[in-house]
Amino acid sequence: MSEQLSFVSPTANSPWGTYLSQVDRVVPYLGPLARWVETLKRPKRALIVDVPIEMDDGTIAHFEGYRVQHNMSRGPGKGGIRFHPDVTLEEVMALSAWMTIKTAAVNLPYGGAKGGIRVDPKKLSLQELEKVTRRYTSEIGIIIGPHTDIPAPDVNTNAQIMAWMMDTYSMNVGGTATGVVTGKPLHLGGSLGRVKATGRGVFVTGREAARRLGMDLRGARIAVQGFGNVGSVAAELFADAGAKIVAVQDHTGTIVNSNGLDLAKLVPISRTDGVVGFKAGGDIVPNEDFWNTPCDILIPAALEGQLTAERAQKTTAKLVLEGANGPTVPQADDILAERGVLVVPDVICNAGGVTVSYFEWVQDFSSFFWDEDEINVRLDRIMMNALNHIWDTADKHKITLRTATYAVACERILMARQERGLYP
Ligand code: NAD
Repeated sequence: MSEQLSFVSPTANSPWGTYLSQVDRVVPYLGPLARWVETLKRPKRALIVDVPIEMDDGTIAHFEGYRVQHNMSRGPGKGGIRFHPDVTLEEVMALSAWMTIKTAAVNLPYGGAKGGIRVDPKKLSLQELEKVTRRYTSEIGIIIGPHTDIPAPDVNTNAQIMAWMMDTYSMNVGGTATGVVTGKPLHLGGSLGRVKATGRGVFVTGREAARRLGMDLRGARIAVQGFGNVGSVAAELFADAGAKIVAVQDHTGTIVNSNGLDLAKLVPISRTDGVVGFKAGGDIVPNEDFWNTPCDILIPAALEGQLTAERAQKTTAKLVLEGANGPTVPQADDILAERGVLVVPDVICNAGGVTVSYFEWVQDFSSFFWDEDEINVRLDRIMMNALNHIWDTADKHKITLRTATYAVACERILMARQERGLYP
């Protein structure tokens, strides 16, 4: 990260730079609200915290943590917590901003926030992981809360980590505050359907996009990058609908099988050994070959910046479903548009997770819990309504789905900003 980091001057090829250029593209569609657009180009608040813990071997380790509240014009901050060795403040700024756009795109009463710790959790013992989580939660406790900013899981964080966060925050405030995080275990105020919600949203939006393209999901070939919570669930749902998962990549490598990988075997093996552990079920190929594996649908569901201009030229996919946040760089977006490849952007495609997080938060406050069918019916309805509205906007202005999503979302955010007015 550059020492010169500022809100308005992103470092080269950074996710924050990608986000700023996405906002610039929407300005012509904002009408008089464009005078407020600068609001979207700066986070409201960014907190950097030191997270010191005593390691199992008695040494003291320090990790850097962040919580960024990008925008709260429409409601409390909402967004996940990422544990990854490459996390930077600038990355968290971008992720928080995409949450602002996402919650507005699906019309949830939230703003956008995100957090992270620069740590490789795979190198920590369970006890060290708990200490890191608790100290970080305590440090950011001055700005999070059930009515101010509600974290959730992201890369390398899960329901157990949310339980520790909820407990730490609750200890500090002297009560049990289930609504402070979402993605919790079921018996701690979690919601049915939350674990699969993001992958399900990718499937629901992808199925509708395929229908509109006239693409039959039965026999459609799908390549999935990232085989964690989002990628593996989306892959399973598409396979259930008759598609063939022909290539999967995770941090351990890439496996391909043009007849379709056997997910019932691949999923459990990938959880312990990564996808390369399933050598018996396909061919292990160099990682770069993932991008030119013949496929109809490409699902980037790992990290940001993966779909570069070069890879956008290579892909044979007709449809890209952005399970990850920010997987496509702006130049690649242009290339895909020129090549007639439809991109369902992250800010709508992966919004299923935050939507069921919203259901979880509502259920926590009312202390009344819904069954899974009700969750899924409501999720599908919200995703479809949002996608249809965005599609109409794209058709009306002859713009990409991404720019249309930003147009819809930015109008809602900036209208709220305008109606609230500037304080003081
Ligand atoms: P996860 O930790 O469950 O899985 C991440 C996957 O990415 C793993 O399979 C990992 O091996 C793979 N990966 C990591 N580095 C890689 C690399 N360099 N190349 C290829 N694969 C790599 O995380 P997740 O929750 O599935 O999140 C994945 C993406 O989806 C992230 O961009 C996240 O921000 C986004 N997202 C997640 C949620 C959610 O509810 N979990 C919601 C919206 C968006």
